[in-house]
Amino acid sequence: MINKNFVSSLQASIQQLKDEKVYKQLNYLESPQSAHVKMEGRGDVLILSSNNYLGFCDEPDVVDAGIRGLQKFGAGTGSVRFICGTFTVHRELESALAKLVGTEASLTYVSAWNANEGLTASIAQEGDFVISDALNHASIIDSMRLAKSITKCTTGVYAHSDMDDLRTKLRGAKSARRRIIWTDGVFSMEGSVAKLPEILDIAREHDAIVVMDDSHATGVLGKTGRGTAEHFGVLGEVDIITSTLGKALGGAAGGFVAGATALCDTLTQRSRPQLFSNALPPTVASSALASVNFLTSHPDRVKRLRDNASYFRGAIQEAGFKPLAGETPIVPIIVGETSAAIRMSDMLLAQGVFVTGFGFPVVPQGEARVRCQISASHSRDDLDRAVAAITSVGRQLRIIS
Ligand SMILES: *Cc1c(COP(=O)(O)O)cnc(C)c1O
Repeated sequence: MINKNFVSSLQASIQQLKDEKVYKQLNYLESPQSAHVKMEGRGDVLILSSNNYLGFCDEPDVVDAGIRGLQKFGAGTGSVRFICGTFTVHRELESALAKLVGTEASLTYVSAWNANEGLTASIAQEGDFVISDALNHASIIDSMRLAKSITKCTTGVYAHSDMDDLRTKLRGAKSARRRIIWTDGVFSMEGSVAKLPEILDIAREHDAIVVMDDSHATGVLGKTGRGTAEHFGVLGEVDIITSTLGKALGGAAGGFVAGATALCDTLTQRSRPQLFSNALPPTVASSALASVNFLTSHPDRVKRLRDNASYFRGAIQEAGFKPLAGETPIVPIIVGETSAAIRMSDMLLAQGVFVTGFGFPVVPQGEARVRCQISASHSRDDLDRAVAAITSVGRQLRIIS
């Protein structure tokens, strides 16, 4: 080590995080992600903080497909796609994803983060206006910052799901060449759904392009898990959909942009994370493809997820909590102060239930919460056990009486 000052200043910042009780402790798992996991040092733990909405992380079809993909294609492309070649499984996956979300084409990336990051700067230019919901995911915020500095487009933010604010700000951008609206399909901290039909109407009124990040909705919303557009009956109307393969669709990694063939072709030519970074490893692509196929042939999984979520939401309300209203499997229980959320999460883990607490600045001051996420892999017993633990901890912390 050459620069000791550098390391000691990092150590000081970490100590400060610990003093402020916002330091994130990693928990190590010794078994696959599932309703229950084996947590190092703790044994069996019930998980209510995973995006494994459909239970695909350890689904045998999904795991086996990954093994076969590895055997057939080896470890990876060895370079970026346009230089070295793209595997046939990438093409198969991309057409399956496009079909799933209701677009002409799709293009995969090693993460939804990368998919989002490269997108805005690839479709916006100087003179364009890009506007984002205030609660959009960090990857969208960064994508817009990058686009602004690379292309000199202008950007704006509208208050969360405030359609009047969106209209007003678009009206102010009449002279822009392109107007682009960015929204999450499902907002992950609230578990709320974007007002998509209204956003589409506004886009028509103002000749805007709609880009929706459906990471928490793909496999989750809609009767057959095709996402927010299916939920509202507007499949095929959203110009651009981005999403992750790291949540409901197998939970490994990867993301994609879906839209017109010309859009995906443009991204192949111009999107920097596509041009300068490797493709999805074939084992991951194969597992994701198996996830899409499994989802298509097992719509009952989506129904079980929905039934579990409404059962849990009802039981938590009956226990006296006031979760944020919604129809997604994300059920945030507001507890107030950040320290209460962290305390509650620690006490639940001591009882063998893993739920993450979120406080300021991730959520507004005074609205700290423990965010429960329900999976199709939870049994009714699991959900009852979780409700009992949350109730007992809630009483101890005087969040409920
Ligand atoms: C999780 C998430 C991402 C990031 O997904 P990765 O594939 O893990 O990079 C992007 N956008 C939203 C809305 C998300 O919830």
